[in-house]
Amino acid sequence: MSKLLKMRYLILRRITQIGLLFLYFAANAYGWKILSGTLSASKLFDTIPLSDPFAILQMLSAGAMMGMNVFIGAVIIIAFYGIIGGRAFCSWVCPVNMITDLANWLRRKLLLDKVERKVWVSRNARYWVLGLSLVVSALTGLAAFELVSPITIFNRGVIFGMGMTGGVLVAIFLFDLFGVKNGWCGHICPLGGFYSLIGKFSLIRIRHNHENCTLCMNCKEVCPESQVLHMIGKESGTVTMGECVNCARCIEVCNDDALRFGIRNFTTTSKAKGDNR
Ligand code: SF4
Ligand code: SF4
Repeated sequence: MSKLLKMRYLILRRITQIGLLFLYFAANAYGWKILSGTLSASKLFDTIPLSDPFAILQMLSAGAMMGMNVFIGAVIIIAFYGIIGGRAFCSWVCPVNMITDLANWLRRKLLLDKVERKVWVSRNARYWVLGLSLVVSALTGLAAFELVSPITIFNRGVIFGMGMTGGVLVAIFLFDLFGVKNGWCGHICPLGGFYSLIGKFSLIRIRHNHENCTLCMNCKEVCPESQVLHMIGKESGTVTMGECVNCARCIEVCNDDALRFGIRNFTTTSKAKGDNR
């Protein structure tokens, strides 16, 4: 398989992430009406509202009043990721993912994973940060995470001018490179945690075929949430954990055709799901 074909999902993801940023920028700079606003609240073709449901939750906690359009926008997003895409926001839309993927690629190249860990953060920390964001929003009357969110800062930086964007992104890059592997997205970001929760039962899933697997572990090495691939080396199965970002890196690095996208089957056992290809 050619190298480009092996990177097909990665290339598609980058086109999507950069393309979305460009459309937001073009709406502000040239008046294009394809996608206007920001990742927190946008309009598609100047008609269909799209809202970040976690931002809306924070605003509700803060006691803010919002128009019906904002709620409809949040329902559309929840329905899309909840039913279809799972946590795909993180790998196909969020611009910060480009920074964290770069840090993790460099980390592997520099063999930094082999260095003894000095910093440890639980992968569940993101759910505590999520809860804390809502509590602080309620106490302060402000959407707490939105004020400091690197996703919002990056997105607004591209649309309206860089401002403090560079510093925030460098900090995340260095944290992921020298601190904790997949530190920001895999441990701390509450928006990633939020999409893990709402995407837990979505239809698009990674499937593993144990019979084809040669135990090279390429998939686990590149997976930003390697715990979701717990069936590797044991049995065929479907990735059911909501933390999988549907990035497809595992599919791309597998030379044995042991991983692929599939549609979740709620009626069969985990093993049968993986075998049923
Ligand atoms: S975990 Fe957070 S920063 Fe990382 S890709 Fe997801 S939303 Fe973006
Ligand atoms: S299991 Fe595959 S698609 Fe899911 S996060 Fe890991 S590498 Fe990405």
